[in-house]
Amino acid sequence: MRKKIVAGNWKMYNDLAETEMFLVDLKKQVFPENVVVMIAPSFTNLNHTFRSLREHPVKIAAQNMHQNNEGAFTGEISAKMLKSVGANTVILGHSERRAYFNEDSAILARKVITALENEMTIIFCIGEELEDRKSGNHFQLIKTQLSEGLFHISSDAWENIIIAYEPVWAIGTGETASPEQAQEMHKFIRKTVAENYSKEIADKVSILYGGSVKPDNASEIFGQDDVDGGLIGGASLKVESFMKIVNSF
Ligand code: 13P
Repeated sequence: MRKKIVAGNWKMYNDLAETEMFLVDLKKQVFPENVVVMIAPSFTNLNHTFRSLREHPVKIAAQNMHQNNEGAFTGEISAKMLKSVGANTVILGHSERRAYFNEDSAILARKVITALENEMTIIFCIGEELEDRKSGNHFQLIKTQLSEGLFHISSDAWENIIIAYEPVWAIGTGETASPEQAQEMHKFIRKTVAENYSKEIADKVSILYGGSVKPDNASEIFGQDDVDGGLIGGASLKVESFMKIVNSF
């Protein structure tokens, strides 16, 4: 059985006081046992979140990390630093990193290796822009993002991989992919993994959908055969909406 996962990507929202308010409320909630729940606060709030959630089932993820283990890279954060504050999972390849911070597949491929060497779990994000979909190029683009960024890893490493399909045109726009569009792409991603590795690996990897997931559309999207959960932006910033999504399976 594949893991069901809901992860909140806070992006550049929530300062320390806001994070603390969220955590106080979060800790009052009851969590379903069959869903892995994660939040990815900013770097500055990871340590506090880790300490606050020490005895708690919610896991912590980081939103990015540097491809080198250490060095003179002013302003950057290493895998070891993340692990030291309890973030054993890292989001890599988010479309905002690709678009605004020039993270191409070559850099991402290195980040993937560094994260794996540090025994971290990776939420690897892929997704097409609207033009790609309009021109019918979206499947090819997803295949390229997978093969250039991820398909250099060993078969064993797939234990530590979660894929997030986030169509760029659906992020923060209020426009979600339809459940059918999500299912179609998730199935394609699984098939592509099977072709490049094995059916066994493809059947085990969790594939999350991201892009304007809200309490009122989550259950329909999560109900698709190849959708194993969600990577949630805006709706993860409030405990109430986040919990509704967590309970949408
Ligand atoms: P929204 O849920 O705000 O559309 O963001 C999705 C996302 O980018 C999660 O990583």
